[in-house]
Amino acid sequence: MRIDLHAHSTVSDGTEPPAVVVEQAAAAGLDVVALTDHDSVEGWAEASAAATRVGIELVPGIEVSCRHHGISIHMLAYWPDPHDDALVGTLAKTRDARVARAQAMVARIGVDYPVTWDDVLAESPDAATVGRPHIADALITRGHFARREDAFELVLSNHSPYYVPHYAPEVVEAVVALRHAGGVPVFAHPGADARGRVVPDAVIEQLADAGLVGIEVEHRDHSPAQRERLSGIAARLGLVPTGSSDYHGAGKPNRLGENLTSPENYAALQAARA
Ligand code: AMP
Ligand code: FE
Ligand code: FE
Ligand code: ZN
Repeated sequence: MRIDLHAHSTVSDGTEPPAVVVEQAAAAGLDVVALTDHDSVEGWAEASAAATRVGIELVPGIEVSCRHHGISIHMLAYWPDPHDDALVGTLAKTRDARVARAQAMVARIGVDYPVTWDDVLAESPDAATVGRPHIADALITRGHFARREDAFELVLSNHSPYYVPHYAPEVVEAVVALRHAGGVPVFAHPGADARGRVVPDAVIEQLADAGLVGIEVEHRDHSPAQRERLSGIAARLGLVPTGSSDYHGAGKPNRLGENLTSPENYAALQAARA
C-alpha cells in the first residue's frame, strides 16, 4: 500500500484541479491520497468522484492555517465534518482575511515590482483560498521571476519587508475544534525551519494534550536532524508519524509519493477517527 496524505489542488495553491491531482496520484502508483487544500474543503466532491473512477482511495482532508504566538503553523486534518458550524466559520474568516492580506502584499510589492490585484486574480480563477503562491504566479507572468521559489526568496518569504500576516486561529483551539468536528489532526511539517520559525517540543506536547493525533516526520522540508527530533517526539508522546509529499502540481518540485505513510500508521489515523 502506497499512501500519501498531503496534496494541494487549484482550490488552494496547487496548479491542477482536484480530479487531476487524483489521476496523478493513481499514475504515481498510490493506493491512497489525501486532498488537503489550505483552509477549504471545496475540492472534496470532485476528488472523490475522480477517485472512484480511477480506483484509489481519497481521504478528504484540509490544511488549516493556524498561529501560535506569532509563529505560523499548518494543521492537517482528515475526515472533519465539512458542515461543522465552528469549523466552517473559522475557515471562512481565514479565507476572507487572506484576500485582504494578499491585496496588502500586492500593494507593497507593486511599488518595486509592477503587479496588480487583477494579475493575481487571473492566476487563481478556481481558488477558494488565495495565497502567496498566486502572487508568485502573477510576478512570473509579469516576467519578474522564473519560478515560485525565486519569487519567495526575494519578495514573498516570511522575512521579507513585503510580508503581511493574516488572521488564523490559535493552534491549540484549532486542534480542539477539528477534533470536535470529528477530524484527525496531524501537524504539517512541524520542523520546516528554513521557511520560518518552528515551535518547540513543549508546544507539540500541549497540542498532544489538546487532541493532536499525528505529526509529519517524512517531509522534504525536514532536515535529517529535524526528522530525528520529530520521530523521537512522536514515540515519546504516542503521536502517529506520517510521511507525505505536500504536492502542489507544477507549483513545487514535490512529487506525489516521494514520502509515504506506512499502512500501520494510516490504520492508527483511521482508528482515531472513531
Ligand atoms: P500563504 O498560505 O499565503 O502564507 O503561503 C504559504 C504557501 O506558500 C505554502 O503553503 C507553500 O505552498 C508556499 N511556499 C512557501 N514557501 C515557499 C517557497 N520557498 N517556494 C515555493 N512555495 C512556497
Ligand atoms: Fe501551499
Ligand atoms: Fe503547509
Ligand atoms: Zn501543504
